[in-house]
Amino acid sequence: MPKQENGQREDSLIQNDLSEPFEEEVRAFLGDEEKLHLFDDLTKVNPVTTRTVLKCLQARYRVNLFYTNAGCSLVALNPFQPFSCLYSPELMREYHVALCPQDLKPHIFAVAEQTYRNVQKQMDPVNQSIIVSGESGAGKTWTSRCLMKFYASVAASVISPKGNETVERIEKRVLDSNPVMEAFGNACTLRNNNSSRFGKYIQLQLDRFHHLTGASIQTFLLEKTRVAYQAPNERNFHIFYQITKGATAEERLEWNLPEGAEYRWLPNSERNLDEDCFEVTRGAMFHLGIGPATQSNIFKVLSGLLHLGNVQFSNPVDESQPCELEDKTKEFVKTTGDLLQIPTEELLESLRIRTITAGKQQHVFKKPCSRAECETRRDCLAKVIYARLFEWLVLVINENIYTDPSVWTSFIGLLDVYGFEAFPENNLEQLCINYANEKLQQHFVAHYLKAQQEEYAAEGLQWSFINYQDNQNCLDLIEGNPLSIFSLLNEECRLNRASNTDLFQTRIEKALSSNQCLSRDKFSKKPNFIISHYAGKVCYQLAAMVEKNKDAVPPELLHVLQNSKDPLLQKLFPVTVKNQNSTKTQNRAAVVTVVSKFKSSLEHLMEILSRTTPHYIRCIKPNADCKAMTFRREEVLSQLQACGIVEAITISAAGFPVRIPFQSFTERYELLRKSWGSSKKRVWGKSSSHPAEKKGETAAMGDGKAPRAAVLEILQDAAREQTPA
Ligand code: ATP
Ligand code: MG
Repeated sequence: MPKQENGQREDSLIQNDLSEPFEEEVRAFLGDEEKLHLFDDLTKVNPVTTRTVLKCLQARYRVNLFYTNAGCSLVALNPFQPFSCLYSPELMREYHVALCPQDLKPHIFAVAEQTYRNVQKQMDPVNQSIIVSGESGAGKTWTSRCLMKFYASVAASVISPKGNETVERIEKRVLDSNPVMEAFGNACTLRNNNSSRFGKYIQLQLDRFHHLTGASIQTFLLEKTRVAYQAPNERNFHIFYQITKGATAEERLEWNLPEGAEYRWLPNSERNLDEDCFEVTRGAMFHLGIGPATQSNIFKVLSGLLHLGNVQFSNPVDESQPCELEDKTKEFVKTTGDLLQIPTEELLESLRIRTITAGKQQHVFKKPCSRAECETRRDCLAKVIYARLFEWLVLVINENIYTDPSVWTSFIGLLDVYGFEAFPENNLEQLCINYANEKLQQHFVAHYLKAQQEEYAAEGLQWSFINYQDNQNCLDLIEGNPLSIFSLLNEECRLNRASNTDLFQTRIEKALSSNQCLSRDKFSKKPNFIISHYAGKVCYQLAAMVEKNKDAVPPELLHVLQNSKDPLLQKLFPVTVKNQNSTKTQNRAAVVTVVSKFKSSLEHLMEILSRTTPHYIRCIKPNADCKAMTFRREEVLSQLQACGIVEAITISAAGFPVRIPFQSFTERYELLRKSWGSSKKRVWGKSSSHPAEKKGETAAMGDGKAPRAAVLEILQDAAREQTPA
């Protein structure tokens, strides 16, 4: 990668290997390259190709224009540098009061305002959603936060709730959900210091006067493994650093967090991030109805997890005996037990001994776990506690921001969802994420095609996108019935077969060989399969995939958690009648796998989205190093591909790829004017009065696109008149 020198912008150093043909295109269609940044809608670029689109985005980035329309999407480039004037209350107001916000510079506030007006106009469907996508660090959460602030400002309720001044205004509470969710669900990764490790859909509920009355949050697929495993140079969830850095002396005593103590699950704590601010999280939790006592209980449990992470096992001398505890870690089992209010001996037994029920008589045997199994159990305990805590937090937040359906009449949903992922090694997490992106892409394409068809119809053109191939094939491969990757994975879990990944690979290939989206990396020694996604091929490793899908929690662990004396753990792990009576057979039949849970929550989301009017914001990370004002074309291009903009361009190309404003067309094809003039039915030119143009202008709501039916007619007439009889 070229290096930035003396603060110079790196974009100038990028090679344009295709510069010559591009220059021709520029001369032919765009005119002066100096004015490239003026293209505020990529669909106005002629011809719409990835090359021309890239060039325009780069030119705009150079002059601090970070937002560009792309048909029904908005492309948002991350400047990696604060531009406070871009998000000021004054600017929000400017977009809010504008006669036509789309006439102002492209901006997330233009999308937000348009969305809000759609609700006010009772569009069909009246409910709206803004789908914010992009890769890690592209700016999805930043954008969603700004959108929420926009609505909290322009749709603020007029009176405070129930006239009670001690209750925080609803807008504040809705905004306060952000720092809480981020403290518990975000972490510093290699790609983003504040990376969301879960997907989120928030519905902002509006009453009949279009004021914000409440909200509800749905989350997806929290990366709970992070509690017990952090990749090199990454960190655990922010909240762990917040409590260890921000606790008072008294709290340190209560939570057993002495200053300077070291925890294995708290790497890179020497790095001080803005996100380590405990006070903000506590204040927000308080406003959301989580009082000091409950907060203290939560942090005590989290401290328990940090102590649990320091528990390490060693192999016993006698193999029939349970694993030993490493000397220096004995104390940590005790503190964990104390903090989680579980007797130390019971905790230790649940980590080291497996209970097996066998035979018709249901005899119970106890078998010591191997060292690796003990470690897996330890990690599993931390993961299940954290995941349930996160779920419970979302529930409590929802209770405090949700309003009765009788109060709200419409909603605007904001989806902040992880983008397409392709790493050197991919597993179940990437499969789920990429599956979600395939679903969203299908939704986008359907919407985009519909919008294009409507535009053509408004301009009097007949067109059908017969050449366009959608991604249904790929979705069938992943989730189809009766045979798909998901169904085969679930079958493996249901049968509880000893995992043989080679056999599983063969099974997948046999069952799904007819699907052209499936292949295999034949050069790899590890069992794998490749899926050709719309955004590119991804190779998934089969090792551990079935186990990950099972996500089983050993019953001994659930048992100790259910018997804990801690009030919070009692809420998180209630003793249900089913738990008490469950037999092994029942457990097996009722196996709920990760993919089946994810599929159903995604289907629920898609169902909601399909009943809303969608708006798309595609966030782009202009360089992987998060450097301010640095635009690397190759990196931008691959993201345009992954977020479907290239796909949208392809669809455009399947329709009418060249779009020339009517005025420019008449000026440019001056030569043909003679033949038009000779036609009795129309006399028009620069001061055009052709009905099709008027129709085109109104149909396209003044966006200056060509009334193509008229243009086609002209060309056909001209051709006829010039063809000898
Ligand atoms: P992830 O998928 O990892 O959660 P993300 O897409 O949500 O990533 P953000 O956390 O929103 O990414 O953004 C990453 C960082 O980029 C922010 O912390 C902020 O520093 C910077 N950033 C994003 N958008 C903007 C913007 N419009 N102006 C200035 N800085 C921005
Ligand atoms: Mg995020």
